[in-house]
Amino acid sequence: MLYGLEIAMSKQAEGVFFSEAYHNGETERSNWQREVLRNVLSSMTENGIIINGRNIGDSNFVAKLERLQEELDNYELTLSNDLTSEIILMCFLQNETNEEVKELVLKSWVGLWDSPSFINACVNKQDFYDGSYLVKYTSEFQILLRKVTELFCTLIFTLDFAEDADKVLESFAQMLAIELHDIEFDEDEIGINAYLSLFPTRLRDTYEEIFQKCFFAGCMFIIFHEIGHKIEVNEGLARLYNVNPSIHLTDQHKKELTSEYNADLISMKIIDSIFGQNEAIDWLGYAGILLCIMTLAIKSKNLTIDTNHPSIQKRYICAKDYIQNKLGDSSERVLFRRLNAVGIMLSSITKWEDNEWWNK
Ligand SMILES: [Zn+2]
Repeated sequence: MLYGLEIAMSKQAEGVFFSEAYHNGETERSNWQREVLRNVLSSMTENGIIINGRNIGDSNFVAKLERLQEELDNYELTLSNDLTSEIILMCFLQNETNEEVKELVLKSWVGLWDSPSFINACVNKQDFYDGSYLVKYTSEFQILLRKVTELFCTLIFTLDFAEDADKVLESFAQMLAIELHDIEFDEDEIGINAYLSLFPTRLRDTYEEIFQKCFFAGCMFIIFHEIGHKIEVNEGLARLYNVNPSIHLTDQHKKELTSEYNADLISMKIIDSIFGQNEAIDWLGYAGILLCIMTLAIKSKNLTIDTNHPSIQKRYICAKDYIQNKLGDSSERVLFRRLNAVGIMLSSITKWEDNEWWNK
């Protein structure tokens, strides 16, 4: 396969990312997942993993982390410094049949970086000399998305899966409280592992399956929004995704807004090409998209007002319209009801001026 060779060569985008990290005094970026995992595992005691005086997981959890560590140690990252992003890109490349799109995606390098600033993700407009380009998104955002996705999963169980078990409902209520706390206080995560490990295996597997797929789709939405910016300025490829390239617009403001809408639409269509083939799992892909936009809203400064970017509210409404045309009536109702519950819970800990902005 021709791609093997191309992937093996290091890209300028990758080099730029690491030199930027180096200049910011951050040298550990290529290995950060392995290092975090090693640190967590080194906090293991005979009673489980204790961090900041809190037990964050029992032997089940430790076994899971050890499996993950083994997987990471045997995995060569070629398109990103982040395992999730690497798997997302590989999954896309295996599924996509259009060679031109594949080639463009292969030129990306996705860097996950630590930055407490409000810029969640970006892509360099000008490609580097070797044609590669750098997509960056922050680990802070990825972590927040993970927490919101966990909240969503617990809500699904609370709302729909646990009618007859009082005891289970009680732990769901405690889990929801912890999840909200963890979203509100970035630096002070309690985590829900202790609860998950008490679930019966089948319930826990279902929970994790839903979580993995939604989180995967949410991360996908971020990455392919940025790659979408590259696709939408390429006339041939833009046609493939049925969008009008923003490059022809002369009004700068309109151009920027159009570029953003196009990038969202392309990203949703790509997620659809992975999830939308199978009615049993398609809602998980759509949930990931909406959860990602909800997560963007948590710290957003343009929740309801357009700047040079469309407001989060408009992006959410566009995504809902897109999904409405794809899902059957009843799945659509269930999905929006669940997202509504996420919104209501989040509004209790955010400073949203409109506590129903997603319902317009
Ligand atoms: Zn954008």
